[in-house]
Amino acid sequence: MILRENILLKDLTTLRAGGAARYVVECTDEASVREAVAFAKEKDLPFAVLGQGSNVLASDEGFPGVVLLMNIQGIETKVEGDKVTLVSGSGVSWDSLVREAAQKNLWGIENLAGIPGTVGAAPVQNIGAYGMEIKETLAWVEVLNTKTGNIEYIQNADCGFGYRDSRFKHEPWLVILRAAFTLSVKGEPRIGYADLARCKDEGVDLSSPLAIGEAVRTVRSKKFPDLAVEGTAGSFFKNPIVSHEKHAELAQRYGAVPSFPVEGGIKIPLAFILDRVLGLRGHSEGKVSLFGNQPLVLVAHDSASAKEIDAFAHSIAKKVFVETGIDIEREVRHFPA
Ligand SMILES: Cc1cc2nc3c(=O)[nH]c(=O)nc-3n(C[C@H](O)[C@H](O)[C@H](O)COP(=O)(O)OP(=O)(O)OC[C@H]3O[C@@H](n4cnc5c(N)ncnc54)[C@H](O)[C@@H]3O)c2cc1C
Repeated sequence: MILRENILLKDLTTLRAGGAARYVVECTDEASVREAVAFAKEKDLPFAVLGQGSNVLASDEGFPGVVLLMNIQGIETKVEGDKVTLVSGSGVSWDSLVREAAQKNLWGIENLAGIPGTVGAAPVQNIGAYGMEIKETLAWVEVLNTKTGNIEYIQNADCGFGYRDSRFKHEPWLVILRAAFTLSVKGEPRIGYADLARCKDEGVDLSSPLAIGEAVRTVRSKKFPDLAVEGTAGSFFKNPIVSHEKHAELAQRYGAVPSFPVEGGIKIPLAFILDRVLGLRGHSEGKVSLFGNQPLVLVAHDSASAKEIDAFAHSIAKKVFVETGIDIEREVRHFPA
C-alpha cells in the first residue's frame, strides 16, 4: 500500500485550498482500494475518495481520515458491430479517454474534451459541456460497495443521473473502480451550442471527433483560467432550473433571458444573471473573483483559504437571491462531503 501522512489537500485540489489529510493512500487497483478501506476501519477513521480534486473545496481544517487517491489506469476496447465500448480505469484522466476515443474515430464524448479530472469522477456529477453529458454514452460502472465489500456493476439506468447529479453523489460508500462507455463508429457533429456554431461559421474543421475535440479545447482555453497559474474548480455554481412562470417574470424584468427547456422547468445560464443582471463579471472580494471571460467560473488567487472562497461564494449567492429570488446551488462539492 502506497501510504503518505499529513498531506496538504491544497496540493491535491485545483482550487489550491485545504489543510492536511491525516493519510493519503494511492489506489492503483481493486486490492489497494480494499486495503485502504480496511486500514481506515482498523484505525477507526473516516475515508473519502479523491480523483484530481478539480471539483471540490477542501476544508482549511483538513481531513482527519484516509483519502483514497484514485489512480486505477488502463483502457480496454470491446467491439460489437458499429458499437465500441471503452472500459476505463477510474484513475485515467478524462481527457485521455476522450483523445483515445477520437483517435479511434469514435463518436459520443468529443464535446466533453478538455474537462479536467478522472474518469471515475465523471459519473459522480454526470459531467457535461456543449450540449453533451456522459449519461448519454455511459454503459455501466464497476464499484466497490464498501458497506458490503461486494463488487457491483451498476447499469446506466440505475445510476440516477440528473443535471450534474447521480446516485454516487449521495452514496459515498460506492467507490468507482471502472467505467464503460459505448460509443459509435458513425456520428454527426453536435454543434448546437453558440461557441461551436461560431467555430463552424469561422470555417474551423468540425468533421470528426478528433477535430471537434481540438476545437472544444481551443474554445475552453479562453473560457477558463490556466490551472497551472490560478486556483479554480471551473463553474462553481449550477445553472438554475426555474419554472415557466419564474422565467416569464425574469424576462419581463430583464428582457430576453436565454432559456433551455429541460425536465422540470427551464434552465437559465447563471452567467447571464451574474453578468447582464448583476454586472458581476470580474467582480473581486479579497483574494477571490469571478473570471472575466466567464463569470460562472470562480478564481482563487494567492492561496486564498477555503474560508475566503466559501465566504465569496455565499456573497455571490446572496446577491443573486436578493435580486432575482433564485436560490442557486453549488456544483463544487465540499471535501470531505
Ligand atoms: C477548469 C475547469 C473546468 C471544468 N469544466 C467542467 C465542465 O465543462 N463540465 C463539468 O461537468 N465539469 C467541469 N469541471 C469540473 C470537474 O472537472 C469535473 O467534475 C470532474 O469530473 C472532477 O474530476 P476529479 O477527478 O477532479 O474529481 P474530484 O474533484 O477529485 O472529486 C469530485 C467528487 O467525486 C468523488 N469521486 C472522485 N472519484 C471517485 C471515484 N472513483 N469513486 C467515487 N467517487 C469519486 C469525490 O469524492 C468528490 O465528491 C471543471 C473543472 C475545472 C477545474
